[in-house]
Amino acid sequence: MSEQDTLFSKIIRREIPADIVYEDDMALAFKDINPQAPVHILVIPKKPIPRLADAVPEDHSLMGHLLLTAKRVAQEAGLENGYRVVINNGAEAGQTVFHLHLHILGGRQMQWPPG
Ligand code: AMP
Repeated sequence: MSEQDTLFSKIIRREIPADIVYEDDMALAFKDINPQAPVHILVIPKKPIPRLADAVPEDHSLMGHLLLTAKRVAQEAGLENGYRVVINNGAEAGQTVFHLHLHILGGRQMQWPPG
């Protein structure tokens, strides 16, 4: 397994199962295996960018696409009362899988500040 070949690359390649809710040529969205809210979906790029900090100017439109995919997936999940989009960047932020992902959390009242 190369450094960039994470669990999420295996999900993209269908080598391990996931509850996939959206897919296109640039992005994939699937349910988090350990949900922190009634709705907890991860949106990932198919390109293996380890962290947000590793994104480069060429990823400009991909980054926009991920946000619009988050919006679409949240809408399809019925989160009309609100939702939170989170990116954990790096170990100190709590990132555990080093393939960029957006958490979409909803279906309950969120608190601020986050832990
Ligand atoms: P982070 O801590 O921001 O890196 O988030 C990684 C997320 O991936 C966590 O919320 C995990 O529950 C989730 N996760 C880990 N393995 C899987 C998997 N096989 N399928 C779905 N979600 C997963």
